[in-house]
Amino acid sequence: MSKTSPSVRPVRYRLAIESAAAHLLRVELSLEHPAAQGEVLSLPAWIPGSYMIREFAKNIVSLTAEQAGEAVPLRKLDKHTWRTGPLPDAPLRVTAIVYAWDLSVRCAHVDASHAFFNGTQVFLQVQGRELQPHLVELVQPEGEAFADWKVATTLKPARGVPGAAKQWGFGVYRADDYDSLIDHPVEMGTFQTLRFDVAGVPHQMVVTGRARFDEQRLRRDLARICEWHIELFGKPAPFDRYLFMTMAVGDAYGGLEHRASTALLCSRNDLPVPGVHAMDERYRTFLGLCSHEYFHAWNVKRIKPAAFIPYALAQEGYTRLLWVFEGFTSYYDDLALIRTRTITQQDYFAILARTISGVERGSGRLKQSTAESSFDAWIKYYRQDENSPNAVVSYYTKGALIAAGLDLTIRAASEGKRSLDDVMRHLWREYALKGRGVGEDDMPAIIKTATGVDVRREIAAWAEGNVDVPFERLLKPFGVTLTRSSGGLMSALGIKTKAEAGALKLQHVLDGGAMQAAGASAGDELVALDGLRVSASNLESLLVRYRTGEQFELMVFRRDELLRLQVTLTAPRADECQISLAARSTETATTLREGWLG
Ligand code: ZN
Repeated sequence: MSKTSPSVRPVRYRLAIESAAAHLLRVELSLEHPAAQGEVLSLPAWIPGSYMIREFAKNIVSLTAEQAGEAVPLRKLDKHTWRTGPLPDAPLRVTAIVYAWDLSVRCAHVDASHAFFNGTQVFLQVQGRELQPHLVELVQPEGEAFADWKVATTLKPARGVPGAAKQWGFGVYRADDYDSLIDHPVEMGTFQTLRFDVAGVPHQMVVTGRARFDEQRLRRDLARICEWHIELFGKPAPFDRYLFMTMAVGDAYGGLEHRASTALLCSRNDLPVPGVHAMDERYRTFLGLCSHEYFHAWNVKRIKPAAFIPYALAQEGYTRLLWVFEGFTSYYDDLALIRTRTITQQDYFAILARTISGVERGSGRLKQSTAESSFDAWIKYYRQDENSPNAVVSYYTKGALIAAGLDLTIRAASEGKRSLDDVMRHLWREYALKGRGVGEDDMPAIIKTATGVDVRREIAAWAEGNVDVPFERLLKPFGVTLTRSSGGLMSALGIKTKAEAGALKLQHVLDGGAMQAAGASAGDELVALDGLRVSASNLESLLVRYRTGEQFELMVFRRDELLRLQVTLTAPRADECQISLAARSTETATTLREGWLG
């Protein structure tokens, strides 16, 4: 290909903060030689990893184009696509002013303290030029307040290009194509940085937001977890650098995976307290989140459903396999913690038991399979409402249980010689490394090839069907026992409540519960129980005085209308699971268990 061919000239962007106070970014797109017939520009409707149509174009405040100082008209074709008319051969510049005030891992957020953005929100896609290199100049904001700002991103400095950035610096960065451009989010500001190496690969975590935490402990725990993941799939790691981009705030939780980084949102209380060595629930959850997103660097960023090759960013990308890509990832995130001894076996059993209880409390699992939930993520899992527990199953939690069930099945059937780890390595070698996507119906054959164990029936029942994973039976050969006990009063009532502006409201009313039978609905405000005022703090203490079969009168406001409901207390369901070591364990069981949990 000729060096001067316009088709290999990079697509260039220049990104600057237009106004930190107004949360605006200015993003200029330049094409040196636009196509004579004109150019078509668009913005994605969703961001890979978060399966919901978000219509990022809604945040474009203005969009203008010019050539040699003359305005170029842009015609809008649909909600996120623009077209120019035929163009003379002169540089084209398109300027977008983008509103960036969404504090989430999926969008963009800019103020005087920092700027974070995903490419899906700010970089217009030039149709037909997706495979060309893309250059991005990140402009340091002017003024003393921004003098200490640095840049954290896994975009690569554009070596050899005038104004090329240095790592952590402003300047020009490069992506090989558009798909890569939007898979390296950028954080700019004055973050804290932790560094550690794993398997010869530099890893960093940057923490934005006011947070004091035990850096050394976090670095040590993360390094051990990352090393375990790399060992699982086999060296070398599939990236030459990895970056955890953490935003610590008062109260939030979330993560989004990328090929060489992850964007995380957490509460500052999730970070380890200096001087405390015990593992607490919050820090464990944060490590689980890091572990989850890191595992995604293999599972979904490189091992992909065929339906995601390439991503269709203008509309929904449908797959029935999120139970594999999110479910298996959810299984391995916590499994990595026990296998690295970051948590105890008792902790792990408690986590697994809680996941089983949580899944089995939702009757949605009896109406929707995880394969259907995957396919309908766009309209159901990602758009939950008051009825979701009765209608939707989570491909994360039930998917994690399916992964556990398959792992136990494979281990027991192969006498501990094979496991789900072999399946992951097979997917890595035979799919990711060969650039093949996983077909919608491929999983049973993949598992058979990788382990010799036939799990067609299990997948048909658990993933394609609505059957619960039978853990009592599956755990037995491992010398592990699952028992169930009463889920308590709230389980008998079948409700989830939330306190809202001093009122106690029903968030969910579960199918089959006493409250639904009495006529209560989500959104009702609980007022009084047998004449006594009800609040978030006294509901349980009022209820414990009633026995199964007894009645009470509940007064609720539905909107502004007062209703009297007669509630008959039914027996609590035995939906609280406990998992523990069996009283006696054979040598075979101990070997199997140690193979599973390390
Ligand atoms: Zn995930």
